[in-house]
Amino acid sequence: MPPRRVIGIDAGGTKLLGGVVDEQMVVHHRVRRTWRGADRQETLNIFTDAVEEVRAAAPDVEVIGFGIPALVEWEAGVSRWSNHLPLDGVPFRDLMSERLGMRVLVDNDGNASMLAEARQGAAAGARHAVMISLGTGIGGGLWLNGEVYRGATGVGAEMGHSVLQIHGPDCPGDCPGVGCFEALVSGTAIGREGLRRAEADPDSALGRRLAAEKEITGGIVTEMAHDGDALAREVLAEIGERLGFGLVGLVNTFNPEVIVIGGGAVRGGELLLEPARRVIAAHALPPAREGVRLVPAHYGDEAGMIGAALMALESLE
Ligand SMILES: [Zn+2]
Repeated sequence: MPPRRVIGIDAGGTKLLGGVVDEQMVVHHRVRRTWRGADRQETLNIFTDAVEEVRAAAPDVEVIGFGIPALVEWEAGVSRWSNHLPLDGVPFRDLMSERLGMRVLVDNDGNASMLAEARQGAAAGARHAVMISLGTGIGGGLWLNGEVYRGATGVGAEMGHSVLQIHGPDCPGDCPGVGCFEALVSGTAIGREGLRRAEADPDSALGRRLAAEKEITGGIVTEMAHDGDALAREVLAEIGERLGFGLVGLVNTFNPEVIVIGGGAVRGGELLLEPARRVIAAHALPPAREGVRLVPAHYGDEAGMIGAALMALESLE
């Protein structure tokens, strides 16, 4: 019997990554799409188009899992609210199933990433784990007692919208919060902090970049930090510290064995994680912080796609 394969699609705030995934978690026929300012219909068309492209290469596949950046009522497969895509009140599972003529599963992208890392990745073997994905925003997932925790109606666990700073900046997107974790610590926040430092220090490499009207993004700042730029390193240290303070509450609340950091910003590596570890060691409650590991995602920014596929694979059993 040929190995079973499914399609996994991970949609973030600005991009989609998908592919055919087999039981060994090997990804075939990757597909990528980006969107900026697309309306609901255009967004759903991009989803459909991406799936059709993957499916053309793997017509045997019958089930597809989606991780989307939205509060998803898990049982009903309905996207209730999204901070990043126009997917409020969309019966996503049934709608995509009808469009594609396939069985569809859908969950929040943070939950999908958590599933991937807990089953086969950086949190494998743990019964209690937390995952935070730092991308355009912050995705979150909880693995409690050996399963994904989704809360009463299935729309948990959006840890990115816990408040870190009262009177802080407005949360980007449609979140009504201020000073959210997401407003202060995402990949976008790295770019924003880089820009602030560039303005304050025009003689720095970041400042000269700004003067030359070149883009300053989280990715650029991270690259410069790895190349040894002192100011860019300071930016990552600052964001790493904020990450640590955000994690203190989660360590105290959930007493996890491991915290997995994923999303594009994890390319900052130890420049980001080491300051976060220091904050946890200093400020979390002693019994909870003992032994908790803070590690990068095994699947990097493919965790959401792998998790979405795992969801589909597990539904075949
Ligand atoms: Zn928020």
